[in-house]
Amino acid sequence: MTFDAVKIRQEFPILATIANEHPLVYLDNAATTQKPQAVLDALMTYYTTSNANVHRGAHYLSDRATAQFEHARERVMRFIHAPENSHVIWTKGTTEAINQVAHGLEWSISSDDEILITSLEHHANLVPWQQLAFRTGARLRVLPLTSTGKWEPEYAHYFNQHTRIFACTQISNAIGVKTPLEEMLAAAKAVGAFTLVDGAQAVAHYDVNVTELDCDFYVFSGHKMYGPTGIGVLYGKAHALEVLTPVQTGGEMVRHVTYNSTEFNVLPYRLEAGTPHIEGVIGLAAACDYFAAQDRQAMLEWEQKLARYVYDELKFNTAIEIYSPASDTTVVSLSVPGIHTMDLNGYLDSQGVAVRAGSHCAHPLMAQLGVSSTLRASFACYNTLSEARRFCDVLLEAIEILGDD
Ligand code: PMP
Repeated sequence: MTFDAVKIRQEFPILATIANEHPLVYLDNAATTQKPQAVLDALMTYYTTSNANVHRGAHYLSDRATAQFEHARERVMRFIHAPENSHVIWTKGTTEAINQVAHGLEWSISSDDEILITSLEHHANLVPWQQLAFRTGARLRVLPLTSTGKWEPEYAHYFNQHTRIFACTQISNAIGVKTPLEEMLAAAKAVGAFTLVDGAQAVAHYDVNVTELDCDFYVFSGHKMYGPTGIGVLYGKAHALEVLTPVQTGGEMVRHVTYNSTEFNVLPYRLEAGTPHIEGVIGLAAACDYFAAQDRQAMLEWEQKLARYVYDELKFNTAIEIYSPASDTTVVSLSVPGIHTMDLNGYLDSQGVAVRAGSHCAHPLMAQLGVSSTLRASFACYNTLSEARRFCDVLLEAIEILGDD
């Protein structure tokens, strides 16, 4: 396998940062990725050549901005293998997309219904469903997945005739484990539930094919896949998007308005009220093009190799508990009993190593693991083997220094 991370990192200007007097080692990619020059250029070019509001003005710049904006939708559609561009709805990110679905389906939920999630969810794919259950009297159920991402056959009854919605992450942000998505989606479809997949941690690593996955909704954020912040996608099948009540109303999403009534616009505009994040959309499409130009399989294998390296380096250290799988992941999430993860994080930061300590917006999963927080190193295409090595060295140093207290 020949993936040249050293070459690719030249395209990410921020990686030259000196952090706390050390060369930055950025291993917080599951929180957000850095942006390649191609994405930064797309943002700058938009503002210097095409900035205007879209779908509104009949003038040169507005036509130009609208063409770029709608072309971006097509590029994102192709990136996730969606059948039509009207199935791609712009949102602020994963969180907003899930909230749109949870509110948009509220009319269809009654107190006899069940909403099913898994025990590996980020709060973004938990709290909106919990609140929907509170509002409607429906029951929120949690399919117990093991921390290795397994689903025991004895839990098949969680999918039943009451299940109206099944929402599941593709990959756990906290521990990097993949969920048994295909099996669970099949079980949800067999009982006629709406299905939503949280792809926030998947799109940066996998060639996601929403048509093959055959879920009703697929959601993700641009900033975790080398695109800008503030832009994300709600993909939906036509029948699923059609029945969503818009959460936000106003301009753009209407066809005709009187004081007594409003005729909503067609998809995708019906779910996109107000001036959109035009620059974000264009930057996200540039990130998709950036991926399309890479050998994505080699990229993924490289990222997995780095995580595997760290795992193998640390696995026999009796001071360390690792919660991520040994392979097939790009994340290493761990704790050191007796030392607070924030202290480890502080030491790593002082040495220029950026990781994430905390509960990773997954309190119930932390409880399942029996910890309050973990330290997570998450890899992207621009990370190198020497950075993986440095993470291990500095972590071991931190354990030695902090463990003596
Ligand atoms: N789901 C998962 C699995 C995530 O990792 C994240 C971000 N950490 C989210 C949802 C929420 O994404 P955002 O904050 O971009 O809306």
